[in-house]
Amino acid sequence: MKKLISIVIPVYNEAENIEALYDEILSIFTKINYNYEIFFVNDGSNDNSLSILEMIANKDKNVKVISFTRNFGHQAALSAGLYYANGDAVLTMDCDFQDPPSLIPEFIDKWEKGAKIVYGRRIQRNDSFFKKVTASVYYSLLYVAGDIKIKGNIGDFRLIDKVVVEKLNNIKERNKYLRGIIPWFGYKYEIVDYIRPKRIKGSTKFSWLKMARFAMIGILNFSLLPIRLGLFVGIFICSTGFLFFLYLIYRSLFDNQFYKLLEWLAVFNYVLIGILFIFIWIISEYIGKIYDEVRQRPLYVIDKVLNIKINENSHA
Ligand code: UDP
Ligand code: MG
Repeated sequence: MKKLISIVIPVYNEAENIEALYDEILSIFTKINYNYEIFFVNDGSNDNSLSILEMIANKDKNVKVISFTRNFGHQAALSAGLYYANGDAVLTMDCDFQDPPSLIPEFIDKWEKGAKIVYGRRIQRNDSFFKKVTASVYYSLLYVAGDIKIKGNIGDFRLIDKVVVEKLNNIKERNKYLRGIIPWFGYKYEIVDYIRPKRIKGSTKFSWLKMARFAMIGILNFSLLPIRLGLFVGIFICSTGFLFFLYLIYRSLFDNQFYKLLEWLAVFNYVLIGILFIFIWIISEYIGKIYDEVRQRPLYVIDKVLNIKINENSHA
């Protein structure tokens, strides 16, 4: 029995790319000994992407199409594809050749050697200067702030084993940030390095706003740093305020300096603001806890047990 590889491709106005990409994937699978199924997830395109997909799906039953009513976003499209995919492994990739299909055999190879997750890592990207800078700042920030410690520029070009897919589909969290939650599982992984080519046809579908929102979700979903900022600000204000107080007291006692009530109150107010910041931080920590509980992420992820019948509904 040949193993089945599912490929999930989000599509948003990619009419110029779909057929060429399909042809290239097909030609790769004629050379390797695997079955394939391709999930094109049409994320509310308003060009003729959908009719091209319908045409391909009509002649190739291994091509499946999921079409959204409107644009729900790249992550939602990936989640949908991952939910319906049946493969022994699922590869997610963009529709614009920026995730080169020629690397598919390398992903499969690393997976066959035991990795449960294979990440594509862009060692160089031929994007605009702006995109390069924002991406590199963002990935470093995510590395520093978040609890996911895989270095480098890793996007959604990746292959995951069906075990991971199943875990992922069982996660109750609704707004999954796949680039965070997949490494969070902690499975054994491998990396395929590649140079990210320029997008040749069509243009990027990520507006400034979309990119910023996406970046925000990544940070908020995986880092408590923003919530802790209040503590740092509070401590800074309180400690400088304390020094101001010492200064006033010193000058009053030893320099015979007279301060009006209003001046004392000014310093007092300053300190009070610091205390308020600390209280805001405390409230934020509670909100963080609520957030954590509501998401219902599993407490841990079990890879293997010995002499135990595993109960998937325990904590995990
Ligand atoms: N995409 C999508 N919905 C969106 C934006 C993008 O499904 O709202 C798809 C798009 O068709 C492509 C992939 O996500 O297959 C990556 O998008 P893009 O190439 O525009 O992103 P970039 O490479 O510029 O980061
Ligand atoms: Mg692209």
